[in-house]
Amino acid sequence: MTQLLPAIPSVDERYFDQRRYPDGVAFMDGQYLPMSEAKISVLDWGFLHSDATYDTVHVWNGRFFRLDLHLDRFFGGVERLRMKLPYDREKIESILTNCVALSGHKSAYVEMICTRGSSPTFSRDPRQAENRFMAFAVPFGSVANKEQLERGLHVAISETVRIPPKSIDPSIKNYHWLDLVKGLFDAYDRGAETALIVDTHGHIAEGPGFNVFVVKDGFLGTPAFGVLPGITRRTVFDLCAEIGLSATAADISRAKIKEADEVFITSTAGGIMPVTRIDDTAIANGLVGSVTRRLMDLYWQKHDDPAWSTAVFYP
Ligand code: PLP
Repeated sequence: MTQLLPAIPSVDERYFDQRRYPDGVAFMDGQYLPMSEAKISVLDWGFLHSDATYDTVHVWNGRFFRLDLHLDRFFGGVERLRMKLPYDREKIESILTNCVALSGHKSAYVEMICTRGSSPTFSRDPRQAENRFMAFAVPFGSVANKEQLERGLHVAISETVRIPPKSIDPSIKNYHWLDLVKGLFDAYDRGAETALIVDTHGHIAEGPGFNVFVVKDGFLGTPAFGVLPGITRRTVFDLCAEIGLSATAADISRAKIKEADEVFITSTAGGIMPVTRIDDTAIANGLVGSVTRRLMDLYWQKHDDPAWSTAVFYP
């Protein structure tokens, strides 16, 4: 039987019991649920057609990091997919906060999703579908583990081409991941830990859940074309502006990435993460570089800064 958590009508009237949910808490159909109870219909086009958009924000030391930017991207995607959310921005913010607070996690990975839903009359017309909003907070996860963060990730470049922007607008955060998953298996087959895949021109695009940066002669670069405009990528631009480093978005060839002084990847799932080997090539001396380290430090420092983060109220 489905176990429902107490309904939380508003932030002010929140009712919390003393239990905490180590596996996380979800919000669906107006109810908060333990993660194991959060299930969707197999008829939802989010599942059947990948007709959905989502966003992921993290909470670190009890504070959301750059929540406004994540909400902007989510609302933008929903609008461009011609979906309708049943809640306004303020309500969604309070739902996300409640999921985190109920879970009890001080560091969490928080996802908001809008699916096309399905049509009550079994119509195949997407305009007839009833769109669905759901959200969840689960323990914080990272693309790189502790050891990989210290010594740098080993990455393989796959021949797989990222779905072109003329097919799917990459600024709408989406679950079209078959290319990324294929890239990941290519990387595993070659003894690497994760993958970069290429754009339609053969330039480096992005990886499964992350953007990529190169540092060469003190200048930073990241692919401009066919990638999700990541919030962590944007944060790197903002941090560079603050400390006087130059960062630009432009094409990066396979040769150029291997000749870089430093390479790092960026994701809400882990922040700024160093890369020290690509295919059979060590990047520079094979050690994590000083620009990467400086940006990693600054990135995590900003998580306590009220200009960049929002506190979660835990009862
Ligand atoms: N690229 C893809 C395909 C992603 O799925 C993600 C995050 O999930 C990113 C890049 C990084 O984006 P962000 O920094 O907003 O987490």
